[in-house]
Amino acid sequence: MSTDENSGTTPDMSPLKVDPTRASTLLQSISSIHARISTTCKSQNISKPPRLVAVSKLKPATDILALHQPPSDISSSTPQLHFGENYVQELQEKSKLLPKSIRWHFIGGLQSNKCAQLAKSVHSLWAVESVDSVKKAQLLDKGRAQRNEELQKEQDGNAVGGTEEKLRIFVQVNTSGEESKSGVEPKSEDLLSLCKTIRDECSNLKLQGLMTIGAIARSKATTAETENEDFINLRENRDWVAKELGISKEDLELSMGMSEDFESAIRQGSDEVRVGSTIFGERPPKSEAKVLEHTEEDKK
Ligand SMILES: *Cc1c(COP(=O)(O)O)cnc(C)c1O
Repeated sequence: MSTDENSGTTPDMSPLKVDPTRASTLLQSISSIHARISTTCKSQNISKPPRLVAVSKLKPATDILALHQPPSDISSSTPQLHFGENYVQELQEKSKLLPKSIRWHFIGGLQSNKCAQLAKSVHSLWAVESVDSVKKAQLLDKGRAQRNEELQKEQDGNAVGGTEEKLRIFVQVNTSGEESKSGVEPKSEDLLSLCKTIRDECSNLKLQGLMTIGAIARSKATTAETENEDFINLRENRDWVAKELGISKEDLELSMGMSEDFESAIRQGSDEVRVGSTIFGERPPKSEAKVLEHTEEDKK
């Protein structure tokens, strides 16, 4: 699907129609997540709740819009700002269709040959959380530089726009050691040199922190008494990296916790949880996922 012809439309002219029933279901789900986050924070005396990234992969653009710009007649809390996506092309399409005020997080498996494209083409890409090699960091850095050069040119032409801030990078750590999971090895030279490269050599990137997915089995085995080892492991890695880099550990975030285990992650000091299916419901298979939903009316 090509959405290039929409690139000039403003968010107000968005062709997307939010179904009010769906919107109210989604708003209820997200507010119950907020309530669970806040209960967990209170129980641990955590004053600053973690950022909530709503993971919208394989879900239609209208679901995102419903949470970001809820219909005015549905009373709601603050609009959701942060959304997470796993596939480069899907994110490109959504970022063209949706308001520029959304802060996108790329959290999926990242191939080197998609890095430059990702950093260049996605508007308001706020963070990339799945960086596990120096090469990928350098390509993202280059892509962000090119994007800013292009934005600069446009700005010189008609005095609107402006360049984007540094792209935040989370280094993915394979805390569970599973072969199927990407990420650098915990407490390794690779982890340190990648963090140093991002900080010292990539002027368009900012080292934001570390990210892990963790083993499903561990999140299932987690109780309030036996905390998830992956989260303890990531926190220890963060403390180690901070010490080796000579920075304060408060300056390195932990991105950990998903639908099944975000409360455990918060207890271990997570700064950002990434929650998908508990907000949006089960995901369709990738082959059936659609960015634009078509209603029965459209099919006639
Ligand atoms: C899909 C995904 C999530 C969200 O998973 P849920 O279990 O649906 O909450 C979080 N993080 C990453 C990296 C993902 O790929």
